[in-house]
Amino acid sequence: MPECSEWIVARPPRRPVRFSAARAAMFASAAVAAAAIVAVLADIAQNDLHWAPLVLFPVVIGLILGAALVGIARLTQTGHRPTLLAASLAAAALAVAGQHFFAYWNHRIDPAVGRERAKAMAAFPDVADRLTAPAEDWLGFMQTAAQRGRPLPGGWVARGEWAWASWAADALLLVFAVLAMVATAWRLPYCARCGSWWRTIRGGRWTAPEAGRLVAAVGAEYPPEAVATVRYRLTSCRSGCGPFGLKLLWRDSAGRDFACDLWLNTAGRDRVMQLADEVVRREQADDRASAPDPLAHSTERTEPTESVRPGEPDAGD
Ligand SMILES: [Zn+2]
Repeated sequence: MPECSEWIVARPPRRPVRFSAARAAMFASAAVAAAAIVAVLADIAQNDLHWAPLVLFPVVIGLILGAALVGIARLTQTGHRPTLLAASLAAAALAVAGQHFFAYWNHRIDPAVGRERAKAMAAFPDVADRLTAPAEDWLGFMQTAAQRGRPLPGGWVARGEWAWASWAADALLLVFAVLAMVATAWRLPYCARCGSWWRTIRGGRWTAPEAGRLVAAVGAEYPPEAVATVRYRLTSCRSGCGPFGLKLLWRDSAGRDFACDLWLNTAGRDRVMQLADEVVRREQADDRASAPDPLAHSTERTEPTESVRPGEPDAGD
């Protein structure tokens, strides 16, 4: 079918994404909140649940924060890469610092530490004023922890500079995990014209003959092996600027998975929508035929397509 190839376009045009102060502010503020929540969760896992496997822990925390940032970028429709990069780096740094800060904060409000201080105040009432101030600040707490040492697997203890180096290595792993997630997601198609990510507007599952018609209709090569069903997903930016993405997924008789990505113009999108409507109508007709409708006599409906309703003037000829 010669006309079909005209529906397929190469790719969405790559237009530069403009900076938007409003979106940057939305993304950055939500990213800061996400980083704070992740830091609290990391502190709970590490200090309350005592789950902090070496190397794996900062990577897991980074992937969680990265996934949250990707979700925020899609919700706020932020596709400007420098904005995403700067705010994600800041969020990652905040999550690293936040973990250590919450550890310090828990230590400060620890009742055991408070009891010690109360005992000291009772014993030395003349210096009580000075004792009410916390014994150390955040940096002092970190330095004390570094001197005490960080236990590592195999009976090793990283002390002093080695403890700081191990925290720095954790921080780098977290930052890399965050950036890997965000940089993977920003490669997804984004419409610079209306400022939105492509998202699914229609999708479903087709039986083999229907899939064959769909695949042939968009001019793609039909899956060569016997295929039971083909899943399809039609994607568009928010305003439908075009082109439209069509993803086809199928599994052959040997159980191998195949995927096919196409970009369609408006005519191609309309053809896919038309086929989807035809299948929905066919399925509805099958449902009605198989299940006897108790209200069939009062609400009988025929297919609205070709039939001309009685009483309606015959338009056209
Ligand atoms: Zn658009």
